[in-house]
Amino acid sequence: NHKFIATPSRTKEILKKYHFSFKKSLGQNFLIDSNILNNIIRQAGIDKESGVIEIGPGIGALTEHLAIHSQKTLAFEIDQRLIPVLEDTLAPYDNVEVVHEDILKANVRDMIRTHFHPEQPVHLVANLPYYITTPILMKLLRDHLPIDSFTVMIQKEVAERMAAKPNTKSYGSLTLAVQYYTEAEVVMQVPKRAFMPQPNVDSSILRLVRRTKAPVNVVDEHFFFSLIQASFAQRRKTLRNNLTNYFKEKLTKEEVGLILQQIGIDGGRRGESLTMEEFALLANTFIASSK
Ligand code: SAM
Repeated sequence: NHKFIATPSRTKEILKKYHFSFKKSLGQNFLIDSNILNNIIRQAGIDKESGVIEIGPGIGALTEHLAIHSQKTLAFEIDQRLIPVLEDTLAPYDNVEVVHEDILKANVRDMIRTHFHPEQPVHLVANLPYYITTPILMKLLRDHLPIDSFTVMIQKEVAERMAAKPNTKSYGSLTLAVQYYTEAEVVMQVPKRAFMPQPNVDSSILRLVRRTKAPVNVVDEHFFFSLIQASFAQRRKTLRNNLTNYFKEKLTKEEVGLILQQIGIDGGRRGESLTMEEFALLANTFIASSK
């Protein structure tokens, strides 16, 4: 007659037992709704073959479900106070390892190599601390780690930006950075009442599936991303004006306009209307002028 950690009563009991006080600075909003957790597990597509990485297990609400459904779960928690709590709450599960480490400083590649089989699918599942959602995801994506998918609870607006389509308000440089590495989809909205304490912002579950091959061919990734940044520098300005600003000492406004014309992109458009393919064309053309 087991009672999941992710219930209001069990969570309160654990918090009380350890005199635990939430640290807002660490983004501590614990899940207390097992239905939401079942949904996350289903969306993550994990099974008994899967290796799972969790960021921020808290008191183990999600970790418990991951342990039940995966072959092995590796959970990184920065808050020292939670380590003895997790030892207690996760005692029934022998396929979980809690690592007391800041995920931004951890050598995740090494941890994957030493904890999972080389052929094993690895999925990341987390209710992320909202204050560092973007740095965490971008680091894991840029490092080209062998992680097949990411199913994460994050702030609704950030999820919408990461999964956005061109010609929408949410579409921007973050969209293109995330979608260069993954296929992104918002899979579910989560009400504030699913958390303790309730956060000030709305939450969504975002699912990212790593691409096996880049969606576009770019000569220089670094230049591609900096040109994208430049194209969104002032959202209300035209592409021609933003690029003229970027190439200040190197190209005149007329020259920028001419190059755009040659590749068939109207300089009067705004960055938010360009597809990833068009940004690739842009970067591969302007690379000559960047040197
Ligand atoms: N997974 C738990 C749940 O769903 O109830 C807790 C989620 S809570 C939103 C975020 C967790 O991430 C907290 O336990 C917090 O201490 C931890 N955390 C914050 N910053 C971290 C970092 N840099 N590295 C690892 N864990 C971190």
